[in-house]
Amino acid sequence: MRIRVRRGVVLSAGAIKTPQLLMLSGIGPAGALSLHGIPVVHDAPNVGRNLQNHACYRLQYLCNAPVSASRHLRPHNAVAAALRYALFRTGPLAETYAVAGGYFRTDPALEVPDAQVVLLSALGPARTGGAAFRIRDLLPDRHGFGLTVYQGSPLSRGAVSLRSADPLDQPRIEPGYFSDPRDMEVLLKAVKRMRGMMRRPAMAKYIDRELLPGEAVSDDRSLEADIRRNGATAYHQCGTCAMGPGGDAVVDSGLRVRGVEGLWIADASIIPRIPNAALHAPALMIGEKAAALIGGKEAG
Ligand SMILES: Cc1cc2nc3c(=O)[nH]c(=O)nc-3n(C[C@H](O)[C@H](O)[C@H](O)COP(=O)(O)OP(=O)(O)OC[C@H]3O[C@@H](n4cnc5c(N)ncnc54)[C@H](O)[C@@H]3O)c2cc1C
Repeated sequence: MRIRVRRGVVLSAGAIKTPQLLMLSGIGPAGALSLHGIPVVHDAPNVGRNLQNHACYRLQYLCNAPVSASRHLRPHNAVAAALRYALFRTGPLAETYAVAGGYFRTDPALEVPDAQVVLLSALGPARTGGAAFRIRDLLPDRHGFGLTVYQGSPLSRGAVSLRSADPLDQPRIEPGYFSDPRDMEVLLKAVKRMRGMMRRPAMAKYIDRELLPGEAVSDDRSLEADIRRNGATAYHQCGTCAMGPGGDAVVDSGLRVRGVEGLWIADASIIPRIPNAALHAPALMIGEKAAALIGGKEAG
């Protein structure tokens, strides 16, 4: 289907699909496009590069008293919660599972925090150890809580590239987590700091024992191995069409794709360096800013 536009196109397909669409359209690394038989419209080597995300790791603790959000799973509590939400829009159903969070420095000499933590008010799904995931694992019947710890300012970089010229094919994603060894050092320090905090009296009084990774995982080596095995991602992919002042940056400060006319990008792919924060708000900010820039209310 061919759609004609008068002024231009705003591409907003996210940090994975925006670079894929650009590359399918001939805007990307010339060599890679030619390999797939795609005519090169503009050679932009950085399209798809610079992929960033927050790697994270979850600790889980069993509580020694019924203090976690799991109490809302008891039938009469669940009914009460549903009624309260239906009538007043308040109560546990109006709250988030991630009830508290924070930012902290893994090295006191740092000017700004480099790690994040989010406290989850109930036990999360059990590790399946390769076995098929079961829905009932989502509803733990024991009281506990989780702490998800993030490397907030990763230095590792991954890439998104084409598998083929077929637009229905998924792109290849190489996340590159921990390709820079400093990221593992930061995450290790952050996890150890949180484990230490859970041993302090204010938290220890609620804790029966550490479920994950468990006290057997006590030295750096075994903890690092467990992070590599059971670490996860925060789904904060960004950076694959990064903004910058240099001619090699994919978009300029007005969100215009360099090298072509009438094409803007407004999504997390334009973020040059991942902030130490979740990306929903930055993505909204980019959208608002794009509207102002493209609508001519602000100069880019
Ligand atoms: C499971 C999960 C949990 C998250 N939790 C949080 C959180 O708690 N807090 C937070 O701040 N952030 C969170 N994030 C991150 C946040 O949602 C993203 O960073 C943000 O949505 C990125 O915005 P975006 O506009 O770049 O891309 P997206 O929101 O992904 O928008 C891209 C859109 O383009 C569409 N699209 C893609 N390809 C095509 C195509 N070919 N044709 C038409 N449409 C297309 C997609 O369907 C999608 O609607 C979470 C993300 C995930 C996946």
